[in-house]
Amino acid sequence: MIELSANRRVLLVEDDLNIAHLIKLVLTKSGMHVETAMDGIQALDMVKSIEPGIIVSDIMMPNMDGYAFREQLLKDEYLASIPFVFLTAKDQISDVVTGMEYDADAYIPKPFEPEVLVAKIDAILRKYSRLNRLLLFDALTNVFNRRTLESRLSLELKRVNRYQQPVTIIMTDLDHFKQVNDTYGHDYGDQVLITVASLFKEEIRDTDFVGRVGGEEFVLVLPNTDKEAGLFVANRMRNRVEAYAFEHGEVTFSGGAVSAPEDGTDMKELLKKADQALYRAKENGRNQIVAV
Ligand code: GH3
Ligand code: MG
Ligand code: MG
Ligand code: MG
Repeated sequence: MIELSANRRVLLVEDDLNIAHLIKLVLTKSGMHVETAMDGIQALDMVKSIEPGIIVSDIMMPNMDGYAFREQLLKDEYLASIPFVFLTAKDQISDVVTGMEYDADAYIPKPFEPEVLVAKIDAILRKYSRLNRLLLFDALTNVFNRRTLESRLSLELKRVNRYQQPVTIIMTDLDHFKQVNDTYGHDYGDQVLITVASLFKEEIRDTDFVGRVGGEEFVLVLPNTDKEAGLFVANRMRNRVEAYAFEHGEVTFSGGAVSAPEDGTDMKELLKKADQALYRAKENGRNQIVAV
């Protein structure tokens, strides 16, 4: 699964090739991966596919300057949440004030001290990674929380529309989990949830992700995966969980599978269909995956 906390990809937006080269050298040396855009327009085009951990942007650029670029980012909830630094020759006090009004995390005037640039970026990344842990992940199981799952899924569905690559979504729900809690206690139930979530995480690829969307309900998102392959993955997980030696015996789950674009591309409708398929899996006797 994508680890948002360890994202050291930098999107550098700089029209001066020499300066871009120098900054890239400095950042690469400190373990960052740098992609460069020449202006705001190109940067906007690249930002969603790169998913940078931080954006470092010049202000004076042709076509779309740094302010206009920042303004576009701020219009989108996800893009606005990416750490953002201005690195610019505009060094008047009023420039700095303006830059900070665009919610920059730092304003660094050129010429810059390489060590200071790296130290500031590192500090910003550390702070965001602490905040991201709280904001994006479920506190009990450490998978995505519902909001993160939905915002990531909606990005994936945009990709489906754009590139016609399938995505399969598996909605899961643990079987007779109330009984587990009632018999062995809530703390034991919590331990089961933690274990199931980590089994899910172990079974998926780096590009897949999983979120906890309810008490004992998890959603798995498998990009670039059609329904047949998705069902194979889901059943492998089902077997893995069923075979796991929990302290008080077997735990199973049921699942409903939908795929975009064949079952639609609207997130709410897809999740509703997956829920209906899950309901049928329960009716059919549980411990099984049903496709729409
Ligand atoms: P079914 O097979 O039909 O899904 O039966 P079920 O008992 O799993 O379904 P139901 O929705 O009736 O119960 C879900 C239970 O999950 C209710 C609650 O006891 C338990 N649960 C929900 N959230 C948590 C949690 O955070 N921790 C623990 N320990 N249990 C939880
Ligand atoms: Mg410039
Ligand atoms: Mg439930
Ligand atoms: Mg249940």
